[in-house]
Amino acid sequence: MTATTLTWSDRFGQHDMGDWAIYIPPTGLVEPDLHLDNPKRTARLRLLIAKTGLEERLDTVVPRAATPAEIEAVHSAEHVARMAAVSEAGWGDAGGGFTPMNGDSYELALLSAGSVLTCVERVLGGEADNAYAIGRRSGHHASRDTGYGFCIFNNVAVAAAAAQRAGIERIAIVDVDAHHGNGTEAIFYDDPGVLTISLHEDRMFPLETGAAGDRGGAGAEGANLNIPLPAGTGDGGYLYAFEQLVIPALDRFEPELLLVVAGVDGAMYDPLSNLALTAAGYAAAAEQLLAVAERHCGGRVVFEQEGGYSHVYAPFCWLKLIEVLAAAPRSEDPFADFLGGGFNELAPHQRELVDDLAYATHKENQR
Ligand SMILES: [Zn+2]
Repeated sequence: MTATTLTWSDRFGQHDMGDWAIYIPPTGLVEPDLHLDNPKRTARLRLLIAKTGLEERLDTVVPRAATPAEIEAVHSAEHVARMAAVSEAGWGDAGGGFTPMNGDSYELALLSAGSVLTCVERVLGGEADNAYAIGRRSGHHASRDTGYGFCIFNNVAVAAAAAQRAGIERIAIVDVDAHHGNGTEAIFYDDPGVLTISLHEDRMFPLETGAAGDRGGAGAEGANLNIPLPAGTGDGGYLYAFEQLVIPALDRFEPELLLVVAGVDGAMYDPLSNLALTAAGYAAAAEQLLAVAERHCGGRVVFEQEGGYSHVYAPFCWLKLIEVLAAAPRSEDPFADFLGGGFNELAPHQRELVDDLAYATHKENQR
């Protein structure tokens, strides 16, 4: 049986930014509501893990916190000190103006990075075959000198740097969050030992990054792959991009460790993207990533949780990813009846777009 570690702290299901509306403060005409990055989402996932019986198949462990020194492997000491000071003051912003922090946020960010570190340590140490890190706050928009887009520290980058220190030379990071993994890309842009792949909605967030032509810095050409996909892509187009672009890139790179940035905000009902994916689509993508880990990494793969803002549907998508990792029976998606039919089949224009991207990538690889 597969030994799958799940990291969980009750604090992930409690950290609350208060009554913001989407991601702006409730002032003037705007009524108080939930901030999109609210604790309901992870709390509901934790309940589902218990209700479905999945937790009996998991080694659930409380993660350790990352140390500031571990964070500083990928962030400047100034950024770390500023985040500590913002929390110390009790309220402020991590960067960009819509990434609020309260008195708990700095410690939660250390615990979120530590959550991924704990998973990587257990997988590399042989205590787990694979692992799933729950965390709050998210990380993939955070770059060396600043937080951004709800993110404080780049959790997956902190973990990849730790794996490098442990002697792992070839690490692949696949970011399935609907938004571009700009922070992760920037941190490893010149590192040929870390392949960063991001599938994201084209022209979404951040607007200024995520272009298909950004393939890595000098000496690391080809070690970054961006796959911008149009709104309405659905499972068909997404999985075709996996088959034509993601899997071939991973097979060429032959990673020793696979890290997956598991945002599910590309799902239907998500208020922050329009990719129109379903829980079944995420499960199919996860299966392909697990097969890559089997082929190249001795099965060593860590998924770390990121975006997903429908507090009703996102938990069902995350649940599917954990079920795939644990080789557990699949629970039903209560929304499946509404998400079937033709819309998530591959459409000819989607095939053409992915083929064009694959052709351009293939030509570059020939150079
Ligand atoms: Zn996102």
